[in-house]
Amino acid sequence: MRRGKTFIICGPSGVGKGTLAARLLADDPALYFSVSATTRPPRPGEVDGVHYHFLSVEQFEKWIEEDQFLEHAQFVGNHYGTPRLYVDDAMDQGRDVLLDIEIQGADQVKRKMPDVVRIYVAPPSWEELERRLTSRGTEDMEKVQSRLARGREEIAAARDFDYFVINDTVDHAVEEIRAIMAAEHCRPDERLALLDR
Ligand code: 5GP
Repeated sequence: MRRGKTFIICGPSGVGKGTLAARLLADDPALYFSVSATTRPPRPGEVDGVHYHFLSVEQFEKWIEEDQFLEHAQFVGNHYGTPRLYVDDAMDQGRDVLLDIEIQGADQVKRKMPDVVRIYVAPPSWEELERRLTSRGTEDMEKVQSRLARGREEIAAARDFDYFVINDTVDHAVEEIRAIMAAEHCRPDERLALLDR
């Protein structure tokens, strides 16, 4: 059995990473989505343990002390982190893992797992991103502006990523991400290891 790979999707808030992740998971039940921990309060419809593990700041700090995170970072005033426990297990079971995390976290994972595949998801334009963030209606105007500013600052880092996908339509972006995942399993090291068994 092949070992699974970890894929990170990263990109500005509001670009639609959650929607893309939901579609990828619906299409491929073997894909493992890593549920992050956060100190951000749940949005309407978000379920504890499904969308995030919603923690208090004290609980989050305790998880840090207990070294439970593969990576963790702050984003616009809240803490976010990837629990390390399940990521390795899932890959050992041959499952690909999907992380939806911001850029500092992606850097930390890259340092710990050099063969992680990082996909940057960009909006078709900044105007469209602002429209999506505003129409989502989950953040007040000040938070929308902070999230937009952060997105504009961070896009320079996309140059170091392995892939760049533009989320113009969900169908198109999902198709490209699936193609990337398939191509990453055609790398010679993986294929040769399968032949050598
Ligand atoms: P939101 O509050 O909109 O759900 O997420 C805000 C940002 O935090 C998004 O860019 C999302 O990708 C990122 N994020 C979600 N989970 C994690 C995590 O576990 N670690 C890091 N570093 N970022 C995360």
